[in-house]
Amino acid sequence: MSQADVTVVGTGAVGLSTALFLAQGGAKVEVVDSGGIGAGASRNNAGWIVPSMSESVPSPAALRTAAKWFGRGDGPLKVGWELSAGYVAFLARMLCAARPSAYRRGLAATASLAVGAVAAFDELVRLGVDFERHARGVLLLFVEEHGIQPHLDDLAVLAGLGLPGAEVLAGKDVRELEPEAGQGVVGGILCGGDQHVDPSSLVDGLAAAGAEAGVRLRLHAPVTRIVEGTGCVHLTAGGVTSSTGAVVLAAGVGTRSLAGMVAKRVSIRGGKGYGFDYRPAPFTLGHAVYLSDHKVAVTPLDRGIRLAGTMEFGAENIEVDHRRAAGVAAAMRAYFPNWPVRAPRPWSGLRPMTPDGLPVIGHLPTRAPIYVAAGHAMLGITLGPITGQLLSRQILTGEPDPLLAPFAPDRFRPVRFRRA
Ligand SMILES: Cc1cc2nc3c(=O)[nH]c(=O)nc-3n(C[C@H](O)[C@H](O)[C@H](O)COP(=O)(O)OP(=O)(O)OC[C@H]3O[C@@H](n4cnc5c(N)ncnc54)[C@H](O)[C@@H]3O)c2cc1C
Repeated sequence: MSQADVTVVGTGAVGLSTALFLAQGGAKVEVVDSGGIGAGASRNNAGWIVPSMSESVPSPAALRTAAKWFGRGDGPLKVGWELSAGYVAFLARMLCAARPSAYRRGLAATASLAVGAVAAFDELVRLGVDFERHARGVLLLFVEEHGIQPHLDDLAVLAGLGLPGAEVLAGKDVRELEPEAGQGVVGGILCGGDQHVDPSSLVDGLAAAGAEAGVRLRLHAPVTRIVEGTGCVHLTAGGVTSSTGAVVLAAGVGTRSLAGMVAKRVSIRGGKGYGFDYRPAPFTLGHAVYLSDHKVAVTPLDRGIRLAGTMEFGAENIEVDHRRAAGVAAAMRAYFPNWPVRAPRPWSGLRPMTPDGLPVIGHLPTRAPIYVAAGHAMLGITLGPITGQLLSRQILTGEPDPLLAPFAPDRFRPVRFRRA
């Protein structure tokens, strides 16, 4: 018996957005998760909607960052030594994807999705999703003058791809906008088209609106088996097996092993980040602020200020490396000298990373209707709603969306090492 038209695996921003749009399109939808609502990365992040940051992680800039911070225990990037062979192959592919030509192709593809990101959030509001949202832009701050031009170059490329432009600010203009910024801040860039949300309020709002629209939630029910049927899928979740019309794997870093159950390769690995919640806020900030030289996001929310940053490859768990996490909090004082030295307890989150830096969205190369919506790396909040909107349309109409073509799940092939 088919209990649902579509079963979505994962209650993150991507899975819940997809479920809501599917239900609004008339499908009978069920969402299952091994934990509670938003048990993955979707609560533990900076909450930014940043089309202006459409550049993927494997990039010439990331290579420069890696070289600058190599070996530093408190830096924004770490590659652990305890890497498996699979992880080494993953990083090798990332290095290839950082070539300028591959990077530019990826940037154009991501920008083509990001162009619709803010409108997809507007659509969520129209559908009755209630969440905390701020539309004041993101302010990039610099304490090193030479950091500004590479950002402007990227933003010029993005403006050429249809994304909103940005305003360059001198240090004194920054201090007018943000009076707590110190004399060490030499300049800024205001990306006025960006926004931010409280990510916890987003997942809770999506779950509540989904329930209103008839989406059935099954929490604490890990998916342990997926078997292709004829025109349906048999899925075991929380020890219970049922048949469903279609499956969407939106399980963040868990997507790789789920796709592996139907013998399909989807290359997704965790990239760990850390954050701190200062409640109440030590002082008022008018904008979400990016500490550009240290790669730390600062998010003013109704209940306080959140800091988030670092990218750790290798350890796919959520254990906190306190030295590295402390680097996130310490960076703040270079830009805001009045920021308190004492930090609250850090949290961590695993970004679902792909080797080419692009999300994986579309039909798995399976006989049965199994789809993937995962691997959004640093942009899962930004692109979650637009992903859900486009993928749900594809599932409901059976028509592939050309915008999703660069993200097709069948692009992953095993790496073959040639003998010298
Ligand atoms: C420090 C940090 C800062 C970030 N800042 C931003 C930002 O400012 N803006 C932005 O756009 N993005 C940001 N991100 C990235 C963003 O958080 C992620 O891309 C996004 O949350 C991924 O959402 P998702 O729905 O794909 O996966 P997740 O939120 O990880 O959800 C996956 C769900 O699948 C479930 N699951 C996994 N395996 C199974 C299974 N076998 N059975 C059942 N359920 C399963 C999990 O329990 C989880 O609930 C940040 C991430 C970090 C770590």
